[in-house]
Amino acid sequence: MKDMRFPAPEELQKELKKFFKEKYGAEFTINASPQPARKDEKEAKEEKPIDINFDLKPKDIKAFLDRYVIGQEEAKKILSIAVCDHYNHVSRCSKSGGCDDYTKQNIIMIGPTGVGKTYLIKNIAKLIGVPFVKADATKFSETGYVGGDVEDLVRDLVRRADGNIKLAEYGIIYLDEIDKIATPRNIMGRDVSGRGVQMNLLKLMEETEVPQRTPFDIASQLQAFMEFQTKGKVEKNTINTKHILFVVSGAFNGLYEIVERRIRNKRIGFGASFPQEDEKTNLLSKVRSSDFVQFGFEPEFIGRLPVHAVCHDLDVDHLYKILKDSEGSIIKQYIDDFKAYDIEVVFSEEGMRSIAEKAKHEQTGARGLLTVCEKVFRDFKYELPDSSVRHFVVTKEMVDNPAYELKKLFEDSAYIEKQFIHEHLKQYESAFFDRTGIRITFDTQASDMICERARKTGLSINELCDQILKNYEYGLNLIAGNNGNKEFILTREVVENPTQTLDRWVKDSYQQKRS
Ligand code: ADP
Repeated sequence: MKDMRFPAPEELQKELKKFFKEKYGAEFTINASPQPARKDEKEAKEEKPIDINFDLKPKDIKAFLDRYVIGQEEAKKILSIAVCDHYNHVSRCSKSGGCDDYTKQNIIMIGPTGVGKTYLIKNIAKLIGVPFVKADATKFSETGYVGGDVEDLVRDLVRRADGNIKLAEYGIIYLDEIDKIATPRNIMGRDVSGRGVQMNLLKLMEETEVPQRTPFDIASQLQAFMEFQTKGKVEKNTINTKHILFVVSGAFNGLYEIVERRIRNKRIGFGASFPQEDEKTNLLSKVRSSDFVQFGFEPEFIGRLPVHAVCHDLDVDHLYKILKDSEGSIIKQYIDDFKAYDIEVVFSEEGMRSIAEKAKHEQTGARGLLTVCEKVFRDFKYELPDSSVRHFVVTKEMVDNPAYELKKLFEDSAYIEKQFIHEHLKQYESAFFDRTGIRITFDTQASDMICERARKTGLSINELCDQILKNYEYGLNLIAGNNGNKEFILTREVVENPTQTLDRWVKDSYQQKRS
């Protein structure tokens, strides 16, 4: 099996000629004289030159990551620095046409599942504009016959870069579950295949030329043959891996104990430890290459991965913030899903917190958020699109008992309406605070009046509030300057006579200031 190979284009041409001649007669042949490539074909083939003009600073990368990834502060910093060093070096090389001695900043990421390891790297690739490929290390075997060949990763990069080999050569390859190909030394009959995969990866991480066409992929071999048919030659397309950034990750169960033993000089088996998350992250961030070797990696392999970033587990607060603040929050997805049926959904803070609490129990990091939401919203997504319900609020009650709340949605529309407006008002208040630093709160009467007015006029809550509070941002700021007050209860009076009420408040504040 190992020596079997697909014939080279010239050989294939000869064999096919023979085959056609024997089967159909000498007049049938395949065109042996090369056809010149058409001009537009030629242009399409020519790769756009890629000029990595990397002028980001570590803080730019960190700021970008902050928009999407909650927590993981240390990891964000470490990655930002490593990525800047790497692409600055690449940029230098491409400008000067040669490279100085440099140790590539390949990265090991340590942390439990679903905490943002992949998400961090994916966002970095997006920011820089380079292709990104992810695979599980376990799917590769030493020989590449069963499972996959590590070189496929590099070819995948070209695919992701729409065939642009130059761009692919600056891409990022991410390998998850790398800890599963470690081969601990104290285990009898250790898995040699894992070691083999490490060595194959090592070749890629150093520098090698990967052929764009795999020897076993008939389609790409035939493509080469067709190219030979038309042009009389096959372009030697290889991908150089010198500048490809490699990131490997895993949970590395047992690594903590190895680091702890080394640092605290503990003997093996000396009591089990159940560290706090902070303590664990702290200690793990002191990991050394020698700890990874003890874990079961080959020293040469680990030597090519000099950057170590530790990601901590996510607590309820992180999960809540992922829903509320991350630009990639799945909440936006749900809002859009319902919007497609003309249904407006508003997430209350309590609702989001309850989703976060439930997600924590799933123990799959932020992935738990999706699991919980899918359960909560399944019947809503099924029942609401062809109902008369046009909006609803995701409350804590709804997350705790979706079936009951769904029923209520159909039965008590007035209650739902009020709940919806109330939530909108709360969000208006909170946006006002974020903008001005002044906290406003509509009291019950004021809320009810706005609710009534929204029904009558058909205006949205935001439009109504903007109308009523047209001068309040300026006025309340004046008052705050006069008497230091930064919290205001907005009563029925404000809704009925906004201008007069504000005038009076402002005058009073000047009096207070004088006295
Ligand atoms: P892993 O750590 O296993 O690589 P991922 O990065 O793939 O996990 O996380 C799965 C998904 O969960 C991401 O696509 C992202 O939507 C979300 N997620 C995970 N961690 C975070 C985080 N810290 N901040 C924001 N979103 C996150």
